[in-house]
Amino acid sequence: MIRLENVNKVYDDGFQALKNIDLTFKEGDLNVLIGPSGCGKTTTMKLINRLIRPSQGKITVGGKDISTIDPVELRRSIGYVIQSIGLFPHMTIAANVAVVPKLLKWDAKKIERRVDELLDLVGLDPDTYRGRYPSELSGGQQQRIGVIRALAAEPDIILMDEPFSALDPISREQLQDELVRLQQELKKTIVFVTHDMDEAIKIADNIVLMKDGAVVQQGRPETILRHPANEFVSSFVGKKRLLGFAEDIPTVDDVMTSQPVTAYPTRGLAEAVKMMQSKRVDSLIVVDQWKKLRGAVTIYSVLEHYRDESKTLADLAKPFPHVVPSGTPLPEALRLMTEQQTPYVAIADGEGRFVGMVTRGSVVKHLADVYPAPEGA
Ligand code: ADP
Ligand code: MG
Repeated sequence: MIRLENVNKVYDDGFQALKNIDLTFKEGDLNVLIGPSGCGKTTTMKLINRLIRPSQGKITVGGKDISTIDPVELRRSIGYVIQSIGLFPHMTIAANVAVVPKLLKWDAKKIERRVDELLDLVGLDPDTYRGRYPSELSGGQQQRIGVIRALAAEPDIILMDEPFSALDPISREQLQDELVRLQQELKKTIVFVTHDMDEAIKIADNIVLMKDGAVVQQGRPETILRHPANEFVSSFVGKKRLLGFAEDIPTVDDVMTSQPVTAYPTRGLAEAVKMMQSKRVDSLIVVDQWKKLRGAVTIYSVLEHYRDESKTLADLAKPFPHVVPSGTPLPEALRLMTEQQTPYVAIADGEGRFVGMVTRGSVVKHLADVYPAPEGA
């Protein structure tokens, strides 16, 4: 359990970043700290692992005042994942994952076993990835390494500061799913920072909403959606309520949000790799110059065929498994997603032109927006 009691933080320039914070992060909970940029989320995280000190108040971890714990020791017992990933570029994946176990002087055999176990845990084949360098991985894969590196020495607490914000929507959804699945096994105490309400609603056991250095509301996502404490919370949760239209059945067009990365079918494989690297995605949606949806290509299939210079994305594009026409009622798309167990569907217009994607996160957010809790509920 992590507790912040009456914590204030005034930076050297006199700016008060946190004002009388009282917070408890329960053991085994995935806590999400959310709020607009500058509200003090990162400051809170840095206080917990003693990268900075509070100006006032007490922080305890497992009942122990952290000002009495050696900061280096404290940090080794807390996993930390940040947005910019922060893998060491000149070290192999295995060496990156093993950083803290090495500092803790685990023996080599044990470290090796642990690295392979963790790679397996996030679906990366150890034989393939152990010896690679970070630049040889997609953004999504690199961030998976960031996550397992934080898990490596089996800390009870993991702090994650906007870990998935830099990823494309599809990789982000995949990592969210993986984190939730991992957490079911691991039951760590996680503090996860985001400014994305979709993400919070999807993964949180407990949400802490902050504004201007203070906690505005804390509770289960369900509670926050049903009983927003004030106007700020409801507008942050989002209410494009379409007043008067709420009885109309929404369509997929109302719900689609994300802008996935598209590429022309004429592109070669080296170009595809370059695009995936620069956009940090592990798949591309292939769309021709008439915006016709030709399918999707993953980094795996690109690398598999990489040696063949004659191949283009047109050759590798796998038809999108689930395409629904623009205007499809949302419940139909939801049924498809549930039945097919797919986290997203593509939307195309009457001419087969690509329009966008519907993901689980976008659906949940939309439902919360359009169907607010009844008055007095
Ligand atoms: P968040 O992570 O929620 O975006 P931060 O915790 O990083 O916000 O910052 C909260 C506020 O404190 C911001 O207004 C930021 O400019 C300010 N701040 C952060 N670090 C410092 C610092 N070292 N000195 C002065 N002000 C800072
Ligand atoms: Mg921050």
